[in-house]
Amino acid sequence: MKEARPAHRPPSVSLRGLSQALVFALAALAIAFFAIIQWRGAASPAATTANPSDTAESTVTLTRVSSPALGTLRIKGTTTAASGRSTIAATVDGFELPLLEVGADADGVFVVEVAGVDGGARTVCIGPPGRIPVDQCTRVFVTDVSEETPAVVEAHITEAISVVRERFDFDRHVPNWAIEITGPNSGLGGYTAADESTIYISANPGRTLDDYVTTVLHELGHAVDHEYMTPATRQLFGELRGHRTDLPWDSGGTLVFGDDRWRFGSEDFAEVFVAWTLGDTYQTQTDMVAPQPTEADQHALCEMLALDGVTC
Ligand SMILES: [Zn+2]
Repeated sequence: MKEARPAHRPPSVSLRGLSQALVFALAALAIAFFAIIQWRGAASPAATTANPSDTAESTVTLTRVSSPALGTLRIKGTTTAASGRSTIAATVDGFELPLLEVGADADGVFVVEVAGVDGGARTVCIGPPGRIPVDQCTRVFVTDVSEETPAVVEAHITEAISVVRERFDFDRHVPNWAIEITGPNSGLGGYTAADESTIYISANPGRTLDDYVTTVLHELGHAVDHEYMTPATRQLFGELRGHRTDLPWDSGGTLVFGDDRWRFGSEDFAEVFVAWTLGDTYQTQTDMVAPQPTEADQHALCEMLALDGVTC
């Protein structure tokens, strides 16, 4: 029942990693230039007087500061500026950041992220531009990029693989497959190379053991799909899950990033596989193509696979 169908097939591991790193480096450069241009524009008298209601006469209120990613601050607040656009000053431990241009929604709520902040407990303050020190402050703990060495990340993944082994006997059910740890890959938790019978797990810092367990199970779902599913059972699965008839089973070897990467039948299959193996309230990430799987869905998946020694 094998098919030569790569689930996630990059052209080459190292080349893809490299080109991705370049893309991210270029994106970071572009953001840096943009920030500098914005900062100059905002600081020039022409920019500040062009729309005074958005700066001097409007009020900005700090709601919350969090650190959603390594070395990153997320500042949430509100502005009374009618246009929703405001320029705000911000400091981290008293050091001034370049002025931030924020755009608020209809309720005046804005969210702005600042990257490249050193790890540790920090005092973040915001206020109107040109009035330092700024007055509204809060404390936040910024996770440091350097806190997790590659060895620490690798240890997390190794632990996750042994947790997964207790949930799903992959040595028995996909005996020819290997799981390998690969370099950090921003935006990609892992991928499955069917023609190599290998699952690659990206050693990305800042992820929890649970995150890694989920990623390993998801990729195992692709391996199991490759080894056990047939065109007929894939169609059956799509009908059961209510997939649109024009939903492709997979990307045909193209790497897809962002939310679009979930828009494939095989991704929903891998997510239902995670739900089935974890056996708890795991939230599937393919909710744009199918709802949260029911127990009946998980049972049906188990029966389609008909794994040796597994009772459904
Ligand atoms: Zn996947």
